[in-house]
Amino acid sequence: MESYKGRFEPTRFEDLTVTVDFHCHSACRFCIVQEGMNYFKGVPWELYTAAVDDNRASQRYRRVTFTGGEVTLESRLFDYVNYARESGSFEHIRLQTNGRLLANMEFAKKLVDSGIDEYFVSLHGHDAKTQDYISQREGSFDEAIAGLENLVSLGVCVMTNTVLTTLNQPHLADIVETVRRFAPTRMEWWNYLPMEDYTDERELLSPMDKLAPSLREALARARGYGIETAVKYVPRCLLGDDAASQDNTQPDVVIVEEFYDIYPKFACAYEAKCEYAESCLGLHHPYITKYGWEEQLLTPYPRTTEWDEPEYGLWVGSDRPGQADAVATDQPRWTALIDGVAERHGAQLSEVILQRRACVYRFEIGAGGRVDILLSARTQEHALARSASFNLHYRNLRGDLGDEAIREGLTALVKDVVNTVIERDPGGMRLDQRKGMVGPEAFRPRPKSKGPKAGVKSLRVLNAK
Ligand code: SF4
Repeated sequence: MESYKGRFEPTRFEDLTVTVDFHCHSACRFCIVQEGMNYFKGVPWELYTAAVDDNRASQRYRRVTFTGGEVTLESRLFDYVNYARESGSFEHIRLQTNGRLLANMEFAKKLVDSGIDEYFVSLHGHDAKTQDYISQREGSFDEAIAGLENLVSLGVCVMTNTVLTTLNQPHLADIVETVRRFAPTRMEWWNYLPMEDYTDERELLSPMDKLAPSLREALARARGYGIETAVKYVPRCLLGDDAASQDNTQPDVVIVEEFYDIYPKFACAYEAKCEYAESCLGLHHPYITKYGWEEQLLTPYPRTTEWDEPEYGLWVGSDRPGQADAVATDQPRWTALIDGVAERHGAQLSEVILQRRACVYRFEIGAGGRVDILLSARTQEHALARSASFNLHYRNLRGDLGDEAIREGLTALVKDVVNTVIERDPGGMRLDQRKGMVGPEAFRPRPKSKGPKAGVKSLRVLNAK
């Protein structure tokens, strides 16, 4: 079983992020999709429209976010947005952008008129010198600021995003001063994740003894101005009075599956001791490799409940900027599949966990009896049973299985759940595994090498000698 800390969940499974394509006119020094830029393809139209059509029926997602690369460069963006808006199945449509093209009021207005009501704008420096150095594009700061001005005058929800690196660490509170006049609904601070430079040759990883005080100052400054904050990938125990700002959630992303292979893993020396270990990722492995475990700096919150490694990760609903978390939906289409079964057995459906690759129903029965029923995409692989859309398995049988009554109760429950799902599954229900993009069609071909110049022997020939 993969360690919970090894993953980057918790995921907001009510929010869907769609990568339209991977091009950009900036070249941020920390970019997490740098390697995939111009190589990964965006979400194919058919896959995207199938996901939206499914949402119309299932109401699984409440928000769709469009991103890239720099998504405002994509000519098809409006097709994607229009399809989402016309589906009527999303409460919010969000754009993640560097804000540069929004300096053009006509274009900004066109985006707003298309139905995008939330704008998540990157701002990594407090002034032009810092931002333009980070983005490696002169004028990018002035353009983003003009874009923010336009958005504010258009009256939409504006949020900012700052990636924390050594390049802006001394100026985080200054960034708050720069953007306060726009009254952003939220300022997010994402610690830098090395996606390829694991040894930090670019020296972007800021040590926590410098980063944390600077970030705490920025968070306090924002709080003083009434601006909501959210922090990702910085240990909660280093955030002082703003510890509650830690929010490591990410939306459910439709992206090339390979992207997740290079995502850093996380760990904390106090994982089993700390009350917040389930939601605080601790430190990522490249950081630990460079700076160590920071045992002296981190201070675990004493646990009030026993450590129980969350096997499926946390399920997190959607959020409303400025209004905290939205009340989670009860995922009616999924609960309807097994509605009434628990009651027939004197059991309780204690959780429905809807994940990228599985829907998990957790049942509790009698004194300590428990079982999980997993639905995963239908394949020809081994399964306990198959419904029209799914393979079905059970796992995590708990309770005194030597007790005949408990064993029989669990057995009857599992049989009933399986038969009920088979009976009610209408076919065509989607799990995210089917929206993941895998295989060669998800990539653009790399430019072919022209081969060695005339008169130069190839490496293989030289090695053969
Ligand atoms: S001790 Fe570890 S898990 Fe707890 S808040 Fe600090 S970094 Fe997070």
